[in-house]
Amino acid sequence: MTNTDTADAVSTADQVIALARAGSQLVRVTVNNDQAAAAVPEMMRRVAGAGVDVPVIGDFHYNGHLLLAKYPETARALAKYRINPGNVGGKRRDENFRTIVQIAVDNDRPVRVGVNWGSLDQDLLTEMMDANARRPDPADAKDVYIEAMLESALRSAALAEEVGLRHDQILISCKISQVQDLVDAYRRLAARCDYPLHLGLTEAGLGMKGMVASSAALSILLSEGIGDTIRVSLTPRPGGDRTEEVLVAQQILQSLGLRSFTPQVTACPGCGRTTSTYFQKLAEDIQTYLREQMPVWRETHPGVEEMKVAVMGCVVNGPGESKHANIGISLPGTFEEPKAPVYVDGALLRTLKGDRIVEEFLVILNDYVQRTYPAR
Ligand code: SF4
Repeated sequence: MTNTDTADAVSTADQVIALARAGSQLVRVTVNNDQAAAAVPEMMRRVAGAGVDVPVIGDFHYNGHLLLAKYPETARALAKYRINPGNVGGKRRDENFRTIVQIAVDNDRPVRVGVNWGSLDQDLLTEMMDANARRPDPADAKDVYIEAMLESALRSAALAEEVGLRHDQILISCKISQVQDLVDAYRRLAARCDYPLHLGLTEAGLGMKGMVASSAALSILLSEGIGDTIRVSLTPRPGGDRTEEVLVAQQILQSLGLRSFTPQVTACPGCGRTTSTYFQKLAEDIQTYLREQMPVWRETHPGVEEMKVAVMGCVVNGPGESKHANIGISLPGTFEEPKAPVYVDGALLRTLKGDRIVEEFLVILNDYVQRTYPAR
């Protein structure tokens, strides 16, 4: 999801393009006021002008019914509308929701019913909490909270179908910021409906915490076959790179063996057997190199995203791990002879020596890519 002001068509288009080029297959932008809604068509023209074809989803809260009605070109330009049923208006909630869905029907656009525990429909929650309190054996409040989220999502989906949206044009998400609660909610949701589910640990947080928590939550669900689209909601560092969340999402899918996006580098953690930082730098340089090639390789060398590269620190696991990779290098550990055997498809190809090991390894790597994943 972008974090630019959508009213700024240039900056938002640039970020949509960057996210798409990083590998995002869906990009969501907030559409929160007149200026933002008015800017969407121009933003989309800029994205298309850059040769980027990515579906852009509008994220609506509070005033989506007004904005989509007032800016029909924007309604057409967006590929999908995200509606938060907790944020479509108080007394006129259903009416506003119907208005958005009718515009989706008119434009043949799908809708994501996106429930978030930070903005749950309070009337529904109160109703369900009261009903629970009247029971002889009341359930735990958190349990009722999760049930209320599911109820909000499923009632809204049913209402959307009543308005005329096709069943297969509806997606659901129920985002929570606690890992176990999210897993619990999605397991229940998956058991109760066959709508595609969008997964995400909402407000996952900063840096490593956000990445690990998102990976933990999404991995459990995806391993159980739950989830059709994902988002990793990282809080970027000030001025940080927004595409980081795309790379984390891709890494989760690739680590689980569900999708391949970029060649993977297996690197040992290092230990007292390799006290220099040489192999750490080599591993990083190679990972960076591979990632930088991918925008071109994706087109010219289909299948290269499946490639496995090993960069190992010493002779203990180096040759063995290298043989398991498509291409691997085992660097000399401390006190080992200064040479680095390179293995290709399990067999020793050559042993590199001297101070040009990185350059020579990259030549071998490029040659392997050219031969094994031929250009179209
Ligand atoms: S491969 Fe060698 S350097 Fe790397 S962790 Fe194992 S023993 Fe240590």
